[in-house]
Amino acid sequence: MTRVAIIGAGMGGIAAAVKLGRVKGVEYTIFEQSAGVGGTWFDNRYPGCEVDVHSHAYSFSFLKYDWPRTHATQPELLAYAEHVVDRFGLRPHLRLNTRVTDLVWEESTSKYTLQTEHGDTESYDVVISALGLLSVPRYPEWPGLDEFTGPSFHTSRWEEHDLTGKSVAVVGTGSTAVQIVPAIAPTAGQVYVYQREPGWVEPKNEHDFTPRQRWIFKNVPLAQRANRAWIFHKGNRRFRGYDTGSGRQQRMRALCERFIATTIKDETTRTAVTPSYPWGCKRPILSSTFYPTLNRSNVELVPHAVRRVTPLGVVDATGVERRVDVLVLSTGFQPTKFLAGVDVKGRDGRSIHDVWRERASAFMGITVPGFPNFFILYGPNTNGGVSVIAQLERQAEVVVGAVRRLARGRARVVDTSPEAARRFVAWVDRKLASGASAMESGCHNYYHDSSGHNVTQWPGGHLAYAVGTRVVARFGLRAGR
Ligand code: NAP
Repeated sequence: MTRVAIIGAGMGGIAAAVKLGRVKGVEYTIFEQSAGVGGTWFDNRYPGCEVDVHSHAYSFSFLKYDWPRTHATQPELLAYAEHVVDRFGLRPHLRLNTRVTDLVWEESTSKYTLQTEHGDTESYDVVISALGLLSVPRYPEWPGLDEFTGPSFHTSRWEEHDLTGKSVAVVGTGSTAVQIVPAIAPTAGQVYVYQREPGWVEPKNEHDFTPRQRWIFKNVPLAQRANRAWIFHKGNRRFRGYDTGSGRQQRMRALCERFIATTIKDETTRTAVTPSYPWGCKRPILSSTFYPTLNRSNVELVPHAVRRVTPLGVVDATGVERRVDVLVLSTGFQPTKFLAGVDVKGRDGRSIHDVWRERASAFMGITVPGFPNFFILYGPNTNGGVSVIAQLERQAEVVVGAVRRLARGRARVVDTSPEAARRFVAWVDRKLASGASAMESGCHNYYHDSSGHNVTQWPGGHLAYAVGTRVVARFGLRAGR
């Protein structure tokens, strides 16, 4: 039996488990630090939380599902994750409330010793990390934050408080904040939205499917697949807009500018939300409701960073203090800290975090030379590509191909050559510089590490990744005995 450990029961861990379940001679365990499955959709429970990718693309290709809306809400996504877990019999393999802390490669046995937070150790032939990308909150370091007397929390650690009539500060205007602000504005007394640098916002056009549409997607063979293919086709084309010299870049900017002009009434607010950098520099934001919410009399856009926090309020960069009862930190995540919280030691006892001191990288975002039989889902330079779930499926297929070789006894280890990994990173950098110049155009985004390397983004559409991973699965990994 080939024993496989999967770390994380989010969409990546689920994809890997479903595909591994089809391989003979493999037994696997899924370790999950939370009390339930779903990953990001388990953690993020803020008001208005929903996906901004079409449901038919943000779902697994191996299961037709009766989605009620074009964009699923967080409870619907959590129910979907639970459904997939039950439908494919993954539950007996789950070890919830169990954080993996250490992995050590043992050369003599060609296995990893895995240690959990509870101090238990177990031995595995293969380890798949499916920790997700946007899971480590980014907490700001404002003076006075600890002295704030009201509730203060990060969006991914949402605390239920009755906001009726309360004054709430939401700091940040990324994809999360644009969902929270419209959701809380109708009940809150006053909402202050602190914007350090605006993002380009596109209308999301979300809506419920009509009963007729649902019937068609459920009963007409290939209808859902055809819609999915169409969404991916549009997404692959859209990627061309990341080239700042392209006509699509101009069209994306024009679309967002028109959206500002037609939805925001106040001229000063219109100017304040209009970015000065190309579309695609930050992760594009999709929301049909954020701009209209800024027209409300109880919502004020504060177009400044936060300077400090007082026991009773927030002081902006111009020195103005606003009294607030609740402080919501919609300040994002630390995606460049891959494998945060897990110490992985490969050949010669080298830690992956030491190997990544200069820059986090992995071959196709999946394997790191010197760390045999260790695979990463949603690793460096794999974010993007239309739907992350599709990216995760492609990664899971590479991993399962390698595990199959191990399970059939054709190899004891699968590793990557340093040269292949080096060439991959050089190719990513070239592609980002030529086809995705918008990401490098100088705004604040979460793609770059402290040395300025873009370590999170895949430099193309999903099609390119699907082709790349097919080639890698066949030719790119070195098998050894
Ligand atoms: P984000 O996009 O990183 O936005 C963080 C916001 O906080 C930015 O407006 C940032 O301003 C601001 N900020 C950060 N530190 C600050 C500080 N010290 N002072 C003042 N402002 C500060 O984070 P997010 O909105 O949580 O979204 C993260 C990602 O999660 C998204 O990009 C997306 O990939 C994913 N997401 C996806 C969905 C979905 O539906 N699929 C929904 C929500 C989130 P600057 O712009 O100036 O840095």
